[in-house]
Amino acid sequence: MTALDTPAPSVQENAWEMAREQLRRTALLAELDESLFNVLGDCKKAVEVSVPTRMDDGSVEVFTGYRVIHNVARGPSKGGIRYHPLVTLEETKALAMWMTWKCALMELPFGGAKGGVVCDPKLLSPTELERMTRRYTTEIVDQIGPETDIPAPDVGTSPQVMAWIFDTFSMNKGHSVLGVVTGKPLHVGGSLGREKATGRGAGYCVREALRRKGRHVAGAKVAVQGFGNVGRNLAVLLEEAGATIVAVSDSQGGIHNPNGIDVLDAARHKAETGSLGGYSEAEDVTNAELLLLPCDVLAPCALEQEITADNADAVQASIVCEGANGPVTIEADDILADRGALVLPDVLANAGGVVVSYFEWVQGLQEYFWKEEEVNERLNEIVTRAFDQTWTLHETRSVTMRQAAYLLAVGRVAEATITRGLYP
Ligand code: GLU
Repeated sequence: MTALDTPAPSVQENAWEMAREQLRRTALLAELDESLFNVLGDCKKAVEVSVPTRMDDGSVEVFTGYRVIHNVARGPSKGGIRYHPLVTLEETKALAMWMTWKCALMELPFGGAKGGVVCDPKLLSPTELERMTRRYTTEIVDQIGPETDIPAPDVGTSPQVMAWIFDTFSMNKGHSVLGVVTGKPLHVGGSLGREKATGRGAGYCVREALRRKGRHVAGAKVAVQGFGNVGRNLAVLLEEAGATIVAVSDSQGGIHNPNGIDVLDAARHKAETGSLGGYSEAEDVTNAELLLLPCDVLAPCALEQEITADNADAVQASIVCEGANGPVTIEADDILADRGALVLPDVLANAGGVVVSYFEWVQGLQEYFWKEEEVNERLNEIVTRAFDQTWTLHETRSVTMRQAAYLLAVGRVAEATITRGLYP
């Protein structure tokens, strides 16, 4: 038995095994050579660093940080940095691999990477967050760079965190290096449109999927899990386009109103009270309940493995848009496919962020900045093209949208690997 014939034992709990299993299935479908599967199935480099940080009370706390580069066959590696208590090396490796496929599917000249620090950013003061970020950046300063590996925001990090990374790297080099990180604030080399880009890209995918079903965004009922950068912006954009947002949630829980929620008003309530729960215009629901509500489109935009073998059967939406990375497990994917639900995979549905990150990197290298309409137009063009290509393969080969996206993405990375050859 070879590695290709052996399904992973516990894809359910381990994101890295889940990512490897998705690749293994693709390799079988694409009849990929075993040695190529072995190359693509591993990460090029993974560093673990210790991040000692002076806390405001004078004590020192030592955090653990990671930066993983999965693959650079198509260009420098690209991917966000996550600050979350549940960050692990294995999860970071999975997220790095997903970035490789995402960039390839969008035809960006990037490979894939991811980083993270095991911490709860909500419990750190701004000064503690800054010191931790600067020390983490210094520990990985030899890994990152505009030609090698380019970080960006992810769960728990913000444009301000990117500004500290940019400044720390630039101080180490002795001059400003705009291209070292994307997702920066506008006044220090950020791109117009970057903040909303992931939600916007997901919105374009929802629009295209509904169109294929003879429907429109206007009138569609949408439930969004997660009220961070992705979920909140997606909900706002779809509401603006005429959708009825029947539910939204944050990490503490959600709210539901079958007649629609005014998303900006709910955001105001959250800003005032600290959570979405208790909003007078809707009923409170748990995050688990939100996933099973009646709606046309369900967008899990929080963390991995939210839709599993335990709840996939009860999902009522006919379209699942993966705003998060890895929210649907392998078993759940099979169950949803059997039920005829259309899953728009993460590598397609949440790629808008890295597409505009690419624009930001290009603008930074050229020191020439684009208008917001230009950014959004080009984002629409790239995401819609990737959707079309994925849809065509989904139909012609009778495979799921995830399998189609993977066939395209893995095929492109495999082709680059073969063409470049193995060194030495
Ligand atoms: N963290 C985002 C993602 O998962 C953005 C990555 C980037 O812009 O490099 O796609």
